[in-house]
Amino acid sequence: MSAEQALQRLQAGEQGLTPQQAADRLARVGPNTLPAGKSMPAWRRVLAQFNDPLILFLLCAAGVSLALGHATDGMIIIAVVVVNAVVGFVQEGRAEEALAALGQMIAPRAHALRGGERIELDVAELVPGDVILLEAGDRVPADARVLRARNLQVDESILTGESVPAHKGEAPVDPGAPLAEHASIVHSGTLLATGQASAVVVATGAHTQIGRIGKLLGAVGDLTTPLIRQMRTFGRRFTLCALLAALALFVFAIAVRDYGWLDALMVVVALAVGVVPESLPAVITITLAIGVRRMAARQAIVRRLPAVETLGATTVICSDKTGTLTRNEMTAHTVIAPDSRWTASGAGYAPEGELAVVEGLADGRDQALQILRVGLLCNDAQLRNRDAGWQVAGDPMEGALLALAAKAGLSEAEARARHPRLDEIPFDAAHRYMATLHADDDGTAWLCVKGAPEQVLALSRDVVAGGARWEAAIAEAGARGERVLGFAAKRLAHPPERLSMQDVEGLDFLGLVGFIDPPRDEAIEAVAQCRAAGISVKMITGDHAATALTIAWQLRLADRPEVMTGAQLQEVPDDRLVEVAQRVSVFARTNPEHKLRLVRALQAGGHTVAMTGDGVNDAPALKQADVGVAMGHKGTEAAKQASEMVLADDNFSSIAAAVHEGRAVYDNIRKVVAWTLPTNGGEALAVFAALALGTVLPMTPAQILWINMVLTVTLGLALAFEPPEPGIMQRPPRRRDAQLISPFMLWRILLVSALFTIAAFGIFWWAGSRGLDTATARTMVVNTFCVMEIFYLFSVRYMHGGSFTWQGLKGTPVVLGAIAAVVAAQLAFTYLPVMQQVFDTRALGWVEGVVVVLVGPALMLVLEVEKWVLRRLAWFEETRGVQPA
Ligand code: ATP
Repeated sequence: MSAEQALQRLQAGEQGLTPQQAADRLARVGPNTLPAGKSMPAWRRVLAQFNDPLILFLLCAAGVSLALGHATDGMIIIAVVVVNAVVGFVQEGRAEEALAALGQMIAPRAHALRGGERIELDVAELVPGDVILLEAGDRVPADARVLRARNLQVDESILTGESVPAHKGEAPVDPGAPLAEHASIVHSGTLLATGQASAVVVATGAHTQIGRIGKLLGAVGDLTTPLIRQMRTFGRRFTLCALLAALALFVFAIAVRDYGWLDALMVVVALAVGVVPESLPAVITITLAIGVRRMAARQAIVRRLPAVETLGATTVICSDKTGTLTRNEMTAHTVIAPDSRWTASGAGYAPEGELAVVEGLADGRDQALQILRVGLLCNDAQLRNRDAGWQVAGDPMEGALLALAAKAGLSEAEARARHPRLDEIPFDAAHRYMATLHADDDGTAWLCVKGAPEQVLALSRDVVAGGARWEAAIAEAGARGERVLGFAAKRLAHPPERLSMQDVEGLDFLGLVGFIDPPRDEAIEAVAQCRAAGISVKMITGDHAATALTIAWQLRLADRPEVMTGAQLQEVPDDRLVEVAQRVSVFARTNPEHKLRLVRALQAGGHTVAMTGDGVNDAPALKQADVGVAMGHKGTEAAKQASEMVLADDNFSSIAAAVHEGRAVYDNIRKVVAWTLPTNGGEALAVFAALALGTVLPMTPAQILWINMVLTVTLGLALAFEPPEPGIMQRPPRRRDAQLISPFMLWRILLVSALFTIAAFGIFWWAGSRGLDTATARTMVVNTFCVMEIFYLFSVRYMHGGSFTWQGLKGTPVVLGAIAAVVAAQLAFTYLPVMQQVFDTRALGWVEGVVVVLVGPALMLVLEVEKWVLRRLAWFEETRGVQPA
């Protein structure tokens, strides 16, 4: 069918449906959404929780216990494993849900015409008959018949598997043609690789091609991250070592200590159970998920979980200028015509104000008006007066041009009616201009061009003489921080059917318009924050060098920001590139290839790079960057897909906020690990020591498991919720390759393990010396462990802050709640008859109770002394409050 026939069949017009028609159709056909895909069934996800060597190891231990007739121990081990699996299952489900919900937050939007007005709407609201407007980088929101296409190429690999983009056009196609040859149809879910189009929607939701094959778009990413993998590897090694140690211990117990092999086996089981940090991976996932949530609250939407970790290690942020560092609320301020200079009053997009001459002759007004007329015609934006004031639909710079024309008394409707548009070459960052062709009364046509001034000058004739003057004017406006556009026009006696780039030559240069786009206040603050945090910020912009440099000064990007253009960058030899990329902080008039080259150079210099982008062509650089950051509003689908994170508000300060949260997440994971492992270490050492000394075990395997379980689901989880430490953005970034368990942490873990063991044995021995039975002594030991963990928690909470403070001691509600839970659990463990039966515990008297509680402060004291000594020795950097950079 031809485009006209298709429109007729759909009872639609080129101006789109009216809002009423659209609402009726929506009620009839339903929303343009795909039925949700099936996810892994719950039972399989539960089973997946057991697919972990640590857990399998515990299950073996349970089997051995049961086989040896230690039914209680065996059952408890199984119970703990099940509790662990349930916690893991629930939390992973939540993390997945959270990620899926974030997907909703960046739900794609579409541009459509409704009653002739260009609107942005939710993809779900599209109905058959809607006229949609597509641009390079957009994801096609529904199956649609092309009405007008310009250089349209669509990546249909998701449907056809074909990776080369397919050309699309307006010509009808043979009805029998296979899907891959449906050149007049764009299919839902495919991506526009190049060009622009308008198209009429023919099918939505499940009726689209993609709906028919039932493929799910934008499925939630993997939940594992490098850190989780690192932890798993660590866990596996840990388990292997524990197994070997257990084996050695087994032999030792039988050969040297004359244990019966059954008793020896039970000791080994106790050791194994104690040593395995079975819940650590789950707690780390939870910590990451909390980080994702906190980032979302600060407008940074993480698309891939590993980005949460990487953000915390970021050393360079490369950012766009317009809209990210600046407000992108343009006001056309200066008009420079050949013989005069004008300024416009008024702010925002309200078409209220005056155009007044400041330099030259007021009768240069005609020249100035000619510039404004071109700006009015070579324009796709619309201004609207809404409750919130005047707003622009489309490019803010074009909106500002409309307001400017109105201020000078030009009527938009009249100009557009007198000079209907015949064709256009849309703006593209690659050629940096936009051209439109308009009919005139006398049968000739008028070509209007606006774009980057040096580009437009290069396309104009007879500017050689005035060239230097224009250059000076551009530099001057740039120095004021204004964004400059050049304007030119040309009369064509014989208008071509289709405008091509060859037609855009030999133009008559008309003049310049300067726009004000001030830096965002929050961006200035965020840049300062980043610099204090040892992160350098680079501006990579398509704008003019002079403008970019002025804005860089206003943002205080560096003490003395240096600027380089894309062309200059191209000349830099590879061997100097790393140095240049690190030194220069503003890159102007760049194209996407320059971005890619810069990211690579910075990475070669050892940096962890976050890079923003919005266009289709930014995708390679976004992929290459350690954290690709796409713009939520301005960004294309292609850019979002290539990136790890999307900024809901397109605002630079959200990146800084995400880095802040990323650092906090990493800190919290380290705290969880630093806090959890000594429990395991202490328990294992205690068993080991008991055997070496030939005494009875200070705790039974069941009791060991009880400690692990009670503590990790309370205090361990509380650490995952820790707020960022003060001063977190005053430290240099951590090294990307830094081990999670640094030498300092390893020392800490060993020291605390040893202290735990000593305390456990001390208590055990003290109880024995007072004539208490083994069961009572063991009850005391278990309680001592919990008390020590509570106190150790306060030391871990402020890893970077040196000594603990009153502030730290007060704790957060989460921490206090967790402590209350542990205390309640321990009281039950000690005094509840059922628990006494299961765990073979005894009620403790008040003297015993007080002694147990006093061990906590004693431990704290020792750790404070240790910190003091280490700080004195300046041995580990962390104790001085800084991490090795
Ligand atoms: P950033 O990369 O920081 O967002 P930018 O918006 O200036 O900066 P581009 O969108 O690549 O980057 O624009 C490059 C240049 O092209 C602009 O500086 C301007 O001179 C010109 N330009 C931008 N938009 C238009 C447009 N709609 N019509 C004509 N020229 C334009």
